[in-house]
Amino acid sequence: MESLINKKNLTTHPDNDKRQVALGRAQELKHRIEGYLEAVEHIPTGFKLEEQNQARKSKILDYFGATESDWNDWRWQMRNRISDVRKLSQLLPLSDEEAGQIEFVSKKFRWAVSPYYLSLMQADNPGCPVKMQGIPSILEMRDSWGKEDPMAEEYTSPAPRITRRYADRLIINVTNQCAMFCRHCQRRRNIGEVDSPASVEDIKASIDYIRANPEVRDVLITGGDPLTLSDGWLDWILTELDNIEHVEIKRIGTRVPVTMPQRITPELCDMLEKHHPIYVNTHFNHPMEVTREALKATRMLAKAGIPLGNQAVLLKGINNDPHIMKKLNQELLKIHVRPYYIFHAKPVKGTNHFVTTIQEGLEIMENLRGYTSGLAVPWYIINAPGGAGKTPLLPQYLLSLEKDNVLIRTWEGKVFRFANGGNTANSNDPQASMPGRHDCEQG
Ligand SMILES: *Cc1c(COP(=O)(O)O)cnc(C)c1O
Repeated sequence: MESLINKKNLTTHPDNDKRQVALGRAQELKHRIEGYLEAVEHIPTGFKLEEQNQARKSKILDYFGATESDWNDWRWQMRNRISDVRKLSQLLPLSDEEAGQIEFVSKKFRWAVSPYYLSLMQADNPGCPVKMQGIPSILEMRDSWGKEDPMAEEYTSPAPRITRRYADRLIINVTNQCAMFCRHCQRRRNIGEVDSPASVEDIKASIDYIRANPEVRDVLITGGDPLTLSDGWLDWILTELDNIEHVEIKRIGTRVPVTMPQRITPELCDMLEKHHPIYVNTHFNHPMEVTREALKATRMLAKAGIPLGNQAVLLKGINNDPHIMKKLNQELLKIHVRPYYIFHAKPVKGTNHFVTTIQEGLEIMENLRGYTSGLAVPWYIINAPGGAGKTPLLPQYLLSLEKDNVLIRTWEGKVFRFANGGNTANSNDPQASMPGRHDCEQG
């Protein structure tokens, strides 16, 4: 009854009063976003830094004696990955100490960056989020905590190249090659010293496994980076999967839109289009990575009908900040990419310096939901130890759940109690069957 009375009150309000209420609320909402609008002014993005990036690109082209068309050729980008500290120091000024440390780390952990990804790095900024992801740090050697294979992928591989942790979907790892080896890589143990794509025999064995297990309806092709393989080889793998009736969808996990967008060519898109339904998940971690070149790549994929998702990793010093993460997710929507996951960093050996607390992740989520488009809100995921599965973590919005009523908290922290369930005709308790009834317990 109460809700009806409320409605009646509202409908008898003069229009002016309603407008006044709405204007007051709008003022309150503007206030909610002030802090972000101020902070975002100072967050660098790939679009804002276009001129700087362009200047570095020219310098890199000069160094290699290369042309614009070389730059746009992904095979040139792959061939010319920088993995030698002397070469690096000519393109990205380094102190002697830094150069020595990189040399030292590279004895244990492989590194390489594509010329394109290098062009996004700011030499004069020690905290450059692009540099931190691509250039080795001495801290990698000071990790006595991480494990080689914390997700126990080696114990969840029922066939060559396959990781299976779920009932209806699995991963095929088709190569260890990447255009850039992330310093926070979760599969460092596979990166090794040389590029080693899976053998034809191994891929055939993994496809046989999928064929023999009819409950597998979703196959994720990953690596390394599967888009470092040739169009022809990928076409062959995708065709084999198309020929398995129970494989309903295919997904590709790739970082090339971020690290080597030149890989996304019209020919690649034409090939991928033959294998629908196909999804691509990529891995942007910072708004500086969202550039015009990245947009060109993601737009081509989107035009080929491929839904794009993003799997970011929460990384200390790179994106463990609510404003940066919000900006990243908003920039991604501008380039057709739907934020999908934020992964809590895993305890992988050599990456301890990137690991944040869970509280930081939850604070980021708290500052996304309600504060920006729902489309810009991914799931925050922690991987259970031993490969037991992705587990979502959320701030508490459900404060209590009882038989007759629930207590919720909104994005702004307003608390409401309301009836649990619809109107039950025979209910003895009229209070419990009052749909839409809500009492504000706290403003
Ligand atoms: C992450 C992952 C998947 C895919 O998980 P979704 O939540 O469906 O995106 C599948 N298999 C393995 C082994 C994974 O690690």
